[in-house]
Amino acid sequence: MPQKKDSFQGRHCMFCGRAEREVPYLLQGIDGFICSDCVELAHDYLKDVSSQDAAQANAGRVDDSKKPSDIKAFLDQYVIGQDRAKKMLSVAVYNHYKRVNHNLVDRPDDGVELEKSNILLVGPTGTGKTLLAKTIAKMLGVPFTIVDATVLTEAGYVGEDVESILTRLLQEADYDVAQAERGIVFIDEIDKIARKSDNPSITRDVSGEGVQQAMLKLLEGNVINVPPKGGRKHPEQEFIHVNTENILFICGGAFEGIERRIAQRLNTQVIGFGSSSKQRIDKNNLLRYVDAQDMRAYGLIPEIIGRLPVITYLDALDRDALLRILTEPKNAILKQYAKLFEMDGMTLRIGEGVKELIVDTAIKNKLGARGLRSICEQIFDDAMYDAPSSGKKVFTLTLSYAKEKLSDRI
Ligand code: ADP
Repeated sequence: MPQKKDSFQGRHCMFCGRAEREVPYLLQGIDGFICSDCVELAHDYLKDVSSQDAAQANAGRVDDSKKPSDIKAFLDQYVIGQDRAKKMLSVAVYNHYKRVNHNLVDRPDDGVELEKSNILLVGPTGTGKTLLAKTIAKMLGVPFTIVDATVLTEAGYVGEDVESILTRLLQEADYDVAQAERGIVFIDEIDKIARKSDNPSITRDVSGEGVQQAMLKLLEGNVINVPPKGGRKHPEQEFIHVNTENILFICGGAFEGIERRIAQRLNTQVIGFGSSSKQRIDKNNLLRYVDAQDMRAYGLIPEIIGRLPVITYLDALDRDALLRILTEPKNAILKQYAKLFEMDGMTLRIGEGVKELIVDTAIKNKLGARGLRSICEQIFDDAMYDAPSSGKKVFTLTLSYAKEKLSDRI
């Protein structure tokens, strides 16, 4: 019980040694006293120690509290359509980070090693493959980098070594190796390093099979010597060792013409199954049947395919999807323009038919979703120039104004 100072003449705190009159309160125990200052100090100390312990236990832990449905809901805010890919990606990412926490942080002694599952996204260009990978990384808050497989070559040839992929990831992680080792790498245009010929020994295939072989080391999970500044221009630099075991690789490619191979395979398969299974095949959307065999037929080596156990597809974007992309995602292009006008104290109004004009122009120019931005830039450039000094409160984008701006494209 706290006692008022003067009631314990001559007594003192056993921790700091101060006399009773020098401290606010003195608390009595069985064999002695402690002052209220020392109690507070002890309380602060214990709080610090326990939060340090908790931080240590969580070090390296990736937030896996988000369930696949939460991950998908997050993706839905940014990516239109592509439900199948979103679902598969959500499950793969969820399992991947459970695996990181299980193998790296918790390390239970149950002999169960969870294996990693890198992901392959197949779909036409501009359908959201990169956007999906980027959005996942944003949600998880882990380092993320995008590399283009076409610039990679085997060591010793002109171009970038595959190790440069990890240099970039390290840079994204501010050279925090532990962070980089839990990051996500998106390798774009993986189809461009497919084997050029079915006979691997005809010629040296510098940009094809050789790169796949080199990339395999990364996908498999190995300790890689990474030049911190990248490239071969700095031969003096000391290598950083990066373990790729827990880096999630998401590969993407358009795999042009893959439908033909899928059709061929399905045709041979349905023989013997009777006509009923043939009827069930949706011929307009063959990509949904894509599997590892098709990847092999396309020229990915079996070892690489084995390291990309999750294969999923993205749909081509139709007019309706493009219209939604223009307005619905959290950072939809038209929302961004509205924000820019708002920052100049103006309201942006979009006239009837303008959105349809933008989408139809993108389709006509075969630009897909990627073209929406450049079309908008063309429409808005003068208006954006004038807005800050116009003194107006509203800018109304009419169909005739938009048509005039796009006259060279429509
Ligand atoms: P790729 O499939 O070639 O990787 P991207 O993800 O780079 O295509 O898409 C290019 C741009 O098009 C994105 O930055 C985004 O603005 C837009 N986009 C493409 N697909 C979608 C989608 N499904 N939902 C929303 N925006 C999309």
